[in-house]
Amino acid sequence: MEFQSRWRAVLERIETAARKAGRSPSQVNLMAVTKQQPAQAMMEAAAHGARLFGENYVQEFEAKLGAVKQVEGARVHLIGHLQSNKARLAAKLFDGVDSVDSIKLGSKLDQACGELGKKMPILFEVNVGGESSKSGVAPVSSEFEEMLRAAAEWKHLELRGLMCIPPFDDDAETSRPYFRMLRTIAEEVRARQLPGVKMEVLSMGMSHDLEVAIEEGSTLVRIGTALFGPRRTH
Ligand SMILES: *Cc1c(COP(=O)(O)O)cnc(C)c1O
Repeated sequence: MEFQSRWRAVLERIETAARKAGRSPSQVNLMAVTKQQPAQAMMEAAAHGARLFGENYVQEFEAKLGAVKQVEGARVHLIGHLQSNKARLAAKLFDGVDSVDSIKLGSKLDQACGELGKKMPILFEVNVGGESSKSGVAPVSSEFEEMLRAAAEWKHLELRGLMCIPPFDDDAETSRPYFRMLRTIAEEVRARQLPGVKMEVLSMGMSHDLEVAIEEGSTLVRIGTALFGPRRTH
Protein backbone atom coordinates (compact mmCIF):
# COMPACT_ATOMS: atom_id res chain seq x y z
CA MET A 1 0.00 0.00 0.00
CA GLU A 2 1.12 3.52 -0.71
CA PHE A 3 2.17 5.59 2.26
CA GLN A 4 -0.40 8.19 1.37
CA SER A 5 -3.35 5.80 1.69
CA ARG A 6 -2.07 4.47 5.01
CA TRP A 7 -1.57 8.01 6.30
CA ARG A 8 -5.11 8.97 5.27
CA ALA A 9 -6.55 5.79 6.76
CA VAL A 10 -4.90 6.48 10.13
CA LEU A 11 -6.11 10.09 10.18
CA GLU A 12 -9.59 8.84 9.37
CA ARG A 13 -9.49 6.26 12.16
CA ILE A 14 -8.46 8.97 14.64
CA GLU A 15 -11.18 11.30 13.46
CA THR A 16 -13.91 8.65 13.52
CA ALA A 17 -12.91 7.45 16.99
CA ALA A 18 -12.76 10.98 18.38
CA ARG A 19 -16.17 11.90 17.01
CA LYS A 20 -17.67 8.67 18.29
CA ALA A 21 -16.31 9.51 21.75
CA GLY A 22 -17.71 13.04 21.54
CA ARG A 23 -14.24 14.54 21.37
CA SER A 24 -12.69 16.88 18.87
CA PRO A 25 -10.15 15.14 16.60
CA SER A 26 -7.84 18.10 17.25
CA GLN A 27 -7.48 16.90 20.87
CA VAL A 28 -5.70 13.78 19.67
CA ASN A 29 -2.16 14.18 18.40
CA LEU A 30 -0.45 11.71 16.14
CA MET A 31 3.09 10.52 16.71
CA ALA A 32 4.67 8.66 13.79
CA VAL A 33 6.75 5.84 15.26
CA THR A 34 9.72 5.28 12.97
CA LYS A 35 11.76 2.70 14.86
CA GLN A 36 13.32 0.16 12.53
CA GLN A 37 12.28 2.21 9.54
CA PRO A 38 14.75 4.01 7.29
CA ALA A 39 15.18 7.78 7.40
CA GLN A 40 13.34 7.78 4.08
CA ALA A 41 10.14 6.71 5.87
CA MET A 42 10.45 9.72 8.16
CA MET A 43 10.91 12.03 5.21
CA GLU A 44 7.88 10.62 3.47
CA ALA A 45 5.74 11.06 6.57
CA ALA A 46 7.05 14.60 6.95
CA ALA A 47 6.07 15.35 3.36
CA HIS A 48 2.50 14.44 4.31
CA GLY A 49 2.54 16.72 7.32
CA ALA A 50 3.91 14.58 10.16
CA ARG A 51 5.98 16.66 12.60
CA LEU A 52 6.08 14.52 15.73
CA PHE A 53 8.11 11.33 15.61
CA GLY A 54 8.83 8.57 18.09
CA GLU A 55 12.05 6.57 18.12
CA ASN A 56 12.98 3.73 20.45
CA TYR A 57 16.74 3.52 20.29
CA VAL A 58 19.25 6.30 20.85
CA GLN A 59 21.87 5.04 18.39
CA GLU A 60 19.35 4.25 15.68
CA PHE A 61 18.03 7.78 15.83
CA GLU A 62 21.51 9.26 15.85
CA ALA A 63 21.99 7.76 12.38
CA LYS A 64 18.80 9.42 11.09
CA LEU A 65 19.42 12.79 12.71
CA GLY A 66 20.84 14.38 9.57
CA ALA A 67 17.67 13.65 7.61
CA VAL A 68 15.34 14.86 10.35
CA LYS A 69 17.21 18.14 10.71
CA GLN A 70 16.04 19.01 7.22
CA VAL A 71 12.40 18.92 8.26
CA GLU A 72 11.32 22.29 9.54
CA GLY A 73 9.53 22.00 12.87
CA ALA A 74 10.14 18.27 13.31
CA ARG A 75 10.28 17.01 16.88
CA VAL A 76 11.49 13.58 17.84
CA HIS A 77 10.74 11.97 21.19
CA LEU A 78 12.35 8.91 22.69
CA ILE A 79 9.65 6.36 23.52
CA GLY A 80 11.82 3.30 24.21
CA HIS A 81 13.55 2.28 27.40
CA LEU A 82 16.52 4.46 28.21
CA GLN A 83 19.46 3.31 30.29
CA SER A 84 20.68 6.11 32.50
CA ASN A 85 24.22 5.78 31.08
CA LYS A 86 22.79 7.00 27.78
CA ALA A 87 20.86 9.88 29.34
CA ARG A 88 23.41 12.45 28.21
CA LEU A 89 23.30 11.48 24.57
CA ALA A 90 19.51 11.20 24.65
CA ALA A 91 19.22 14.67 26.18
CA LYS A 92 21.34 16.01 23.36
CA LEU A 93 19.54 14.29 20.48
CA PHE A 94 15.86 14.23 21.45
CA ASP A 95 13.23 16.93 21.88
CA GLY A 96 11.51 14.95 24.61
CA VAL A 97 11.72 11.68 26.53
CA ASP A 98 8.35 9.96 26.99
CA SER A 99 9.70 6.89 28.76
CA VAL A 100 11.09 8.24 32.04
CA ASP A 101 10.62 5.42 34.52
CA SER A 102 12.92 6.05 37.46
CA ILE A 103 14.29 8.77 39.73
CA LYS A 104 17.79 7.87 38.61
CA LEU A 105 16.99 8.40 34.94
CA GLY A 106 15.07 11.63 35.58
CA SER A 107 17.94 13.04 37.62
CA LYS A 108 20.52 12.16 34.95
CA LEU A 109 18.37 13.71 32.22
CA ASP A 110 17.84 16.84 34.30
CA GLN A 111 21.55 17.22 34.90
CA ALA A 112 22.36 16.67 31.22
CA CYS A 113 19.72 19.14 30.05
CA GLY A 114 21.10 21.68 32.53
CA GLU A 115 24.56 21.31 31.04
CA LEU A 116 23.14 21.63 27.54
CA GLY A 117 21.11 24.68 28.54
CA LYS A 118 17.90 23.08 27.39
CA LYS A 119 14.51 22.45 28.91
CA MET A 120 12.96 19.17 27.92
CA PRO A 121 9.38 17.88 28.12
CA ILE A 122 9.05 14.41 29.63
CA LEU A 123 6.37 11.84 30.36
CA PHE A 124 6.46 9.16 33.00
CA GLU A 125 6.02 5.67 31.60
CA VAL A 126 3.71 3.60 33.78
CA ASN A 127 3.84 -0.20 33.68
CA VAL A 128 0.06 -0.62 33.81
CA GLY A 129 0.10 -4.39 33.32
CA GLY A 130 2.80 -5.02 35.91
CA GLU A 131 4.72 -7.01 33.30
CA SER A 132 8.30 -7.87 34.18
CA SER A 133 9.19 -7.80 30.45
CA LYS A 134 8.23 -4.12 30.22
CA SER A 135 9.78 -1.02 31.63
CA GLY A 136 7.81 1.69 33.37
CA VAL A 137 7.23 2.60 36.98
CA ALA A 138 4.64 0.63 38.96
CA PRO A 139 1.41 2.66 39.11
CA VAL A 140 0.85 2.66 42.85
CA SER A 141 4.32 2.67 44.31
CA SER A 142 6.67 4.67 46.44
CA GLU A 143 8.94 5.13 43.40
CA PHE A 144 6.09 6.77 41.48
CA GLU A 145 5.38 9.08 44.43
CA GLU A 146 9.07 9.98 44.73
CA MET A 147 9.23 10.69 40.99
CA LEU A 148 6.27 13.06 41.28
CA ARG A 149 8.01 14.88 44.11
CA ALA A 150 11.32 14.97 42.26
CA ALA A 151 9.66 16.49 39.20
CA ALA A 152 9.36 19.79 41.08
CA GLU A 153 13.13 19.80 41.59
CA TRP A 154 14.11 18.90 38.03
CA LYS A 155 14.54 22.44 36.78
CA HIS A 156 15.42 21.40 33.25
CA LEU A 157 12.62 18.90 32.75
CA GLU A 158 8.95 19.57 32.39
CA LEU A 159 6.66 16.71 33.37
CA ARG A 160 3.68 16.86 31.03
CA GLY A 161 1.87 13.59 31.53
CA LEU A 162 1.97 9.81 31.31
CA MET A 163 2.58 7.07 28.77
CA CYS A 164 1.68 3.38 28.86
CA ILE A 165 1.93 0.24 26.75
CA PRO A 166 -0.66 -2.31 27.90
CA PRO A 167 0.03 -6.05 27.65
CA PHE A 168 -0.29 -6.96 23.99
CA ASP A 169 -3.38 -8.73 22.77
CA ASP A 170 -4.87 -8.94 19.27
CA ASP A 171 -8.17 -7.90 20.75
CA ALA A 172 -7.98 -4.14 21.30
CA GLU A 173 -10.67 -4.30 23.98
CA THR A 174 -8.15 -5.99 26.25
CA SER A 175 -6.31 -2.67 26.43
CA ARG A 176 -9.32 -0.74 27.71
CA PRO A 177 -8.97 -1.28 31.48
CA TYR A 178 -5.27 -0.34 31.24
CA PHE A 179 -6.00 2.87 29.35
CA ARG A 180 -8.68 3.67 31.89
CA MET A 181 -6.20 3.01 34.69
CA LEU A 182 -3.71 5.46 33.18
CA ARG A 183 -6.36 8.13 32.77
CA THR A 184 -7.53 7.66 36.36
CA ILE A 185 -3.96 7.95 37.65
CA ALA A 186 -3.47 11.16 35.67
CA GLU A 187 -6.74 12.61 36.98
CA GLU A 188 -5.81 11.79 40.58
CA VAL A 189 -2.37 13.32 40.22
CA ARG A 190 -3.79 16.41 38.51
CA ALA A 191 -6.25 16.94 41.35
CA ARG A 192 -3.36 17.11 43.82
CA GLN A 193 -1.93 20.14 42.03
CA LEU A 194 1.66 19.20 42.78
CA PRO A 195 4.30 21.80 41.95
CA GLY A 196 6.02 21.25 38.61
CA VAL A 197 3.60 18.50 37.61
CA LYS A 198 1.37 18.82 34.59
CA MET A 199 -0.90 16.00 33.51
CA GLU A 200 -2.18 17.14 30.12
CA VAL A 201 -0.66 14.44 27.96
CA LEU A 202 -1.97 10.88 27.96
CA SER A 203 0.18 8.98 25.48
CA MET A 204 -1.72 5.77 24.81
CA GLY A 205 -2.89 3.82 21.79
CA MET A 206 -0.90 2.13 19.01
CA SER A 207 -1.78 0.72 15.58
CA HIS A 208 -4.16 -1.97 16.79
CA ASP A 209 -5.90 -0.22 19.68
CA LEU A 210 -5.96 3.50 18.93
CA GLU A 211 -9.78 3.66 18.85
CA VAL A 212 -10.09 2.23 22.36
CA ALA A 213 -7.36 4.60 23.59
CA ILE A 214 -9.15 7.62 22.14
CA GLU A 215 -12.41 6.53 23.73
CA GLU A 216 -10.56 6.38 27.05
CA GLY A 217 -9.11 9.86 26.73
CA SER A 218 -5.82 9.53 24.87
CA THR A 219 -4.33 12.84 23.73
CA LEU A 220 -1.46 11.23 21.79
CA VAL A 221 -1.49 8.02 19.78
CA ARG A 222 1.81 6.41 18.75
CA ILE A 223 1.47 4.74 15.37
CA GLY A 224 4.10 2.60 13.67
CA THR A 225 2.98 -0.34 11.52
CA ALA A 226 -0.36 1.15 10.44
CA LEU A 227 1.64 3.99 8.84
CA PHE A 228 4.83 2.33 7.70
CA GLY A 229 4.03 -1.36 7.37
CA PRO A 230 6.11 -4.08 8.99
CA ARG A 231 9.31 -2.92 10.66
CA ARG A 232 12.55 -3.68 8.89
CA THR A 233 15.80 -4.44 10.52
CA HIS A 234 18.26 -1.71 9.87
C1 LIG B 1 6.84 0.37 18.42
C2 LIG B 1 6.09 1.22 19.36
C3 LIG B 1 4.88 1.84 18.98
C4 LIG B 1 4.22 1.63 17.64
O1 LIG B 1 3.61 0.37 17.60
P1 LIG B 1 2.71 -0.08 16.34
O2 LIG B 1 1.96 -1.23 16.86
O3 LIG B 1 3.65 -0.42 15.25
O4 LIG B 1 1.83 1.07 15.99
C5 LIG B 1 4.28 2.68 19.90
N1 LIG B 1 4.81 2.91 21.12
C6 LIG B 1 5.95 2.33 21.52
C7 LIG B 1 6.49 2.63 22.87
C8 LIG B 1 6.62 1.47 20.66
O5 LIG B 1 7.74 0.88 21.07
